[in-house]
Amino acid sequence: MTREPDRPPVAGSSGPAPELDWSLAELERLTARAASLVTEHLTSIPDRPVFQPYPRELAEELLAEPMPRYGASSDAILDDFARLIEPYPFGNGHPRFFGWVNSPPLPIAVIGDALAAAMNPSVAGGNHAAVWLEHQVLGWLRSMVGLPASAAGLLVSGASAATVTALAVARHVATNGAVRSDGLQSGPGALTVYTSEEGHSCIRKAVELLGIGSSNLRLIGTDADRRLDVGALEVAIADDLAAGRRPMAVAASAGTVNSGAIDPLAAVADVCRRRGVWCHVDAAYGGPAILTDRFATALAPLGEADSVALDPHKWLSIPIEAGAVFVRDAAAMRDAFSLVPAYLRTDEDPHGVGGPPWFSEYGLQQTRGFRALKVWMALKRYGVEGYRAAIDRTLDLAEHLAQRVEGDPRLALVARGLSIVCFRVRPDGSLDREAEDSANRAVLDAVQRGGEAFLSGTVLDGRFCLRACIVNFRTTRSDVDRLVDAVLAAARDVASS
Ligand SMILES: *Cc1c(COP(=O)(O)O)cnc(C)c1O
Repeated sequence: MTREPDRPPVAGSSGPAPELDWSLAELERLTARAASLVTEHLTSIPDRPVFQPYPRELAEELLAEPMPRYGASSDAILDDFARLIEPYPFGNGHPRFFGWVNSPPLPIAVIGDALAAAMNPSVAGGNHAAVWLEHQVLGWLRSMVGLPASAAGLLVSGASAATVTALAVARHVATNGAVRSDGLQSGPGALTVYTSEEGHSCIRKAVELLGIGSSNLRLIGTDADRRLDVGALEVAIADDLAAGRRPMAVAASAGTVNSGAIDPLAAVADVCRRRGVWCHVDAAYGGPAILTDRFATALAPLGEADSVALDPHKWLSIPIEAGAVFVRDAAAMRDAFSLVPAYLRTDEDPHGVGGPPWFSEYGLQQTRGFRALKVWMALKRYGVEGYRAAIDRTLDLAEHLAQRVEGDPRLALVARGLSIVCFRVRPDGSLDREAEDSANRAVLDAVQRGGEAFLSGTVLDGRFCLRACIVNFRTTRSDVDRLVDAVLAAARDVASS
């Protein structure tokens, strides 16, 4: 691979394209510089504001620059990275980032991503290391959620892609495969999908993309703990069957994004079994909590699902993007996507050139990235016990936050589940609901812009509230205390303005 450094272009050369190829000297210098940039970034984050909006001048500078006519030096590009990009992260690497469900990346997995890019295989299929590694990683994650070894899996971009993939298999099964040739034009009644009012928006997106239509998505009510009401689910399915509709799938939540609620998964699976409806579980956020004693029982029924969506790029701290989907009926998954007719498949020798059945037969993508390496490295580095301890820590921190909220008359606890705490500031005086909501919105905006801590907001029971989710292995008790202090300071400012 090596050649003389910076050889000048030679017209008609039969060697590598001199414009694009690397020299040994450049490669050594650049990877060393990139390594320091990575180290500097990861270590300096705690001393910086959690978040600052990207400066308008820089955004305008970026958008005004035309596509370069000629190349710049690699060092000039890394200079640009250091000036224009690195100082303005989303915030999720910071120990006081509590927004949405976004974790910091594990260093070993950052390195895994770089090494994967260097190898750059397409993991559509074949008999090379990346294919076997993805099978190994999928096997580990599948056993974590308790599905049998016969289930099929796929690493995907995230739970949104996992949900589309899983519900596409459910749709395939519900139409006896006819959807592939006839679309949704065949079949008697409307295909119908069920989720709770707290189900993630990606379920609706999948239902819309799959041509089922959101008017055929039943939003089932929830109980006091915001868990799907299984009685209401059963009634809805029975009514739909009586009306000649085709109940296709239930998408239950193993940890809602709003409040961390875990639907009664065993009861949902039971209804699905009795009614012949596909049971999908969205375990994007909550799935890894199955490793802890606190949630092992509530999450054990993940193993009964027909399909599961999981997001290693959340609580497992794998760099984005890393999602996973599992489907119990491997043959159905392959039949839903494969364009190799069953009679032409050559599955005899997984150790031949073609390797095991191709991943591209089990999902949307043909060319697929090497996502498995970063996941593999992180799972090897920390193991089940390392992750169990880290997740337990975040659960303890959420408990601490809930106690601080409950112990403070200026705050009100609204909801609490897994590592999510939803709360409101209680402004003095007799503010009506709307004024109180807008005070909480103002507090959220002030905290987000303040740089001391970052959280997001949500609406529960029609009321706006602040929402903190702790999936960050770098967060400490003092970070949680500083979040509360930042909220209280912002509340004082809002009240006096
Ligand atoms: C994040 C999340 C999703 C969506 O997953 P993406 O990885 O963002 O595509 C779905 N459901 C839940 C519960 C989530 O937390």
